[in-house]
Amino acid sequence: MPAVLAGDPPYWDEAFPPHKIAGNLYYVGSKGLSSYLVTTPRGHILINASFERTVPLIKAAIEKLGFRYSDVKILLGSHAHGDHMAGNWLVKEQTGARVMVMREDAEAVRKGKGLLMTRPCVVDQELRDGEVVSWGGASLTAVLTAGHTEGCTTWTMEVEVEGVKRLAVMVGSPNINPGTKLVGNAEYPGISSDFEKAFRVWKGLPCEIFLGAHPEYYGMAEKFELAKKKPGRNVWMDAEGYRAYIAEREKAFRAELARQRRGG
Ligand SMILES: [Zn+2]
Repeated sequence: MPAVLAGDPPYWDEAFPPHKIAGNLYYVGSKGLSSYLVTTPRGHILINASFERTVPLIKAAIEKLGFRYSDVKILLGSHAHGDHMAGNWLVKEQTGARVMVMREDAEAVRKGKGLLMTRPCVVDQELRDGEVVSWGGASLTAVLTAGHTEGCTTWTMEVEVEGVKRLAVMVGSPNINPGTKLVGNAEYPGISSDFEKAFRVWKGLPCEIFLGAHPEYYGMAEKFELAKKKPGRNVWMDAEGYRAYIAEREKAFRAELARQRRGG
């Protein structure tokens, strides 16, 4: 049985101290599910509503930072799986935020279908690869990195660290869920070529601030501890960690693809 069906890890539902990453970019997710808040004078952009049950944690995190949950104006997401987008409808209902989803994932959100998804949610705007979402002076770019889902999105934005603009990259997901067919997948015939393309895209991004849909992609908990020991240093700046992570995930993808091609 795929591990994902055996129950969600309990730490996904645990609160984590919300924190500033850089500039107007903050972490407001749980211990295992990343959510990011981009604040602007015109209201905020939230990336990832996670599950319905995670939404109260996100709301509390936003308020703990001194911002208003009701000021969330735009809701974006990593990909149309329930651990990132099942709560979309709830955030929309509570804040009135506009829901924007990569075109290839829009139907899954609209119908509430797909892994761990629960109920339908209105999609106010479909996004295309490379589209820039601008609001209140903030700009985020939707980079299509499909494979994990057909519309899996890596978000990038520039934030200032000590007066220098740095590229933050929120990786959508480079992972193959247990039981996923890379070969002969009737529902998603282009899955392996999409993954191939996504790895090329990730390798081409000049990432400086490494973030992702789940905090363990970038070692959030360890970096958060390090930040306490080294105040004044931006621990989220980790170009090397990003490159190593993508390289390791690509290796895992290629091994799994080879295994499936052998019929293993
Ligand atoms: Zn997923």
